[in-house]
Amino acid sequence: MTSLNLTQDVADLTAELIDIMSVSGHEGPIADAVEASLRALGHLSVHREGDAIVARTDLGRAERVILAGHLDTVPLPTAPGSRGTVPSTWEKNDGDDSPQARTLYGRGATDMKGGVAVQLALAALLTEPTRDITYVFYDHEEVAADLSGLKRLVDRVPELLSGDFAILLEPTNGNVEGGCNGTIRFEVRASGKAAHSARAWMGENAIHKLGPVLVALAAHEPQTLTVDRLDYRESLNGVIVTGGSAGNVIPDRAVLEINYRFAPSRTPDDAEDYVRKVLGESLNGVEFVRTDAAPGARPGLDHPAAASFVEVVGTTPMPKFGWTDVARFSALGIPAVNFGPGDSLLAHSDNEHVSAQAIHDCLGALKAWLS
Ligand SMILES: [Zn+2]
Repeated sequence: MTSLNLTQDVADLTAELIDIMSVSGHEGPIADAVEASLRALGHLSVHREGDAIVARTDLGRAERVILAGHLDTVPLPTAPGSRGTVPSTWEKNDGDDSPQARTLYGRGATDMKGGVAVQLALAALLTEPTRDITYVFYDHEEVAADLSGLKRLVDRVPELLSGDFAILLEPTNGNVEGGCNGTIRFEVRASGKAAHSARAWMGENAIHKLGPVLVALAAHEPQTLTVDRLDYRESLNGVIVTGGSAGNVIPDRAVLEINYRFAPSRTPDDAEDYVRKVLGESLNGVEFVRTDAAPGARPGLDHPAAASFVEVVGTTPMPKFGWTDVARFSALGIPAVNFGPGDSLLAHSDNEHVSAQAIHDCLGALKAWLS
């Protein structure tokens, strides 16, 4: 079984991880390598659950911190000449020969093998951390939520995920991104009566019944809510419209799908009440159905462990607007933030890359905080 060299330069370790291809559903080889490397360390208790691995120190420290990252990547780019692929490649920065002055290209360079490399380097480096550490590596993050390896760990071995504070090493450009917005979806279903469009008065137009709802959505000004000192900007949008059957038929059915991204101070039920209030009378004569919801996560930056971490990193925390796995920790009552190397805007892109410097900086901050 491949074992990784955890004590090499952390950027070179990132390259080694990229070169073990791990598109979602094919995480076996990288999980094997991670498991073998962690077991070889000796100071961690290691548990494997499918292609997810949990490794813990057990030093009886007053606080326990979770460092989590996913092992999978999105599929390789298909455009010819793309550099965000496997195997990885290096580019040297002009006129600087230091090992930090390099850029690493490859699938997962940003999302998120740099973060995973930092986790592994810390696991090897910190035999006596000041806080107990739980390292979590999981599969199936880039696909449907019900396949998530982190969800599986939460369902099957929640006791292994206990802790005071969690950091997901997703790319944030070295910023601390706290909490996340929740997401909820609704369908507005309108019914009418089909007729030939040449004799429209014989029918009842279902598409037209969506008009008032669309007007209300377009007129709505999204709010910004402050939660634990961070400003969460909300969005409320019609996202899909379906209806009608032919160019000469009055439609008897139309459906508008609505997505609302709501601040973590609201529950999904609060979010539904709010949308019903915004849409008000426009919902008369149509059906309004909630189809899906996931609560957000409060940033929890007032927790002492979180506060001391933010102080060491030294940047101003920012809110996360998209839904992320921090919400799974939040649901367990564990405050969680994202903090990792690389620009999240490059994630999944054809030329995904990360600077060696960014990976070193992330490792340096976490090492300073935990030792
Ligand atoms: Zn990711």
